[in-house]
Amino acid sequence: MSQEYELTLKISRYDPDTDRAWVQDYHLKVGRILRFVDLFRKINDEQDPTLAWSSSCEHGQCGTCGMKINGKPLLTCELLVENAVQMFKTQTFKVEPLTVAPVIRDLVIDLEKAYERIHIVKPYIIEFAPPHPEGDEYRIPPRVLEAYVEATRCINCFCCATACISTQKNYLGPNAMLADIVRLMDPREVANEERLKILYSGQGIQRCRTSQACTFVCPKQIDVAHFIALGKEGKFGKVNGV
Ligand code: SF4
Ligand code: SF4
Repeated sequence: MSQEYELTLKISRYDPDTDRAWVQDYHLKVGRILRFVDLFRKINDEQDPTLAWSSSCEHGQCGTCGMKINGKPLLTCELLVENAVQMFKTQTFKVEPLTVAPVIRDLVIDLEKAYERIHIVKPYIIEFAPPHPEGDEYRIPPRVLEAYVEATRCINCFCCATACISTQKNYLGPNAMLADIVRLMDPREVANEERLKILYSGQGIQRCRTSQACTFVCPKQIDVAHFIALGKEGKFGKVNGV
């Protein structure tokens, strides 16, 4: 089927040189299986080379092309024109940058700034448990891995943090909490006391309002709210003095 759509993209623009922000309309006649990143490239090639946007792998693995389309945070490399028309029941789309960090230009945000929240939770194993006595490797029983492997799919695209109603209010955000929780569930990590202090800090899960918006928008189909709920229920233990 060679159906074409006549789209209007209402794109948020920002020029840091003049500090001017505005919305610019672009009209495109396109095929149904183009992705939104293809639309931005088409605009650059055919209408406006000054439109700034960012992507990298364009296979849903790097988290660079997150934007808000008609208010929903998603990966624009995964959004086909046809699916967008069906999902939003329109051929007019508002395209905005994610809200977790300052805009550098147009649709490009300062990801270094966004990552500052992730760095706070130390998204790596702080202190390794001793390896298995019969070898150098770590052995994680399948049932233990099964409980948290879903959370390891996070690519830090910040879609959940943008959707979260609490992120702007001193909360580190759902993906930062998930990065902490995934290591609390990882038997290779022994610095659980330090991790619990992060989890229950003033910027931690107590700020979550249980809206489940994080789960709703996650492009990796991670039930983020489920993992955060485990922390709220005290499933990882309590920590003294917090
Ligand atoms: S939990 Fe999902 S939405 Fe949130 S940053 Fe990770 S991949 Fe993106
Ligand atoms: S469930 Fe909590 S972390 Fe997830 S979006 Fe709602 S308030 Fe934010």
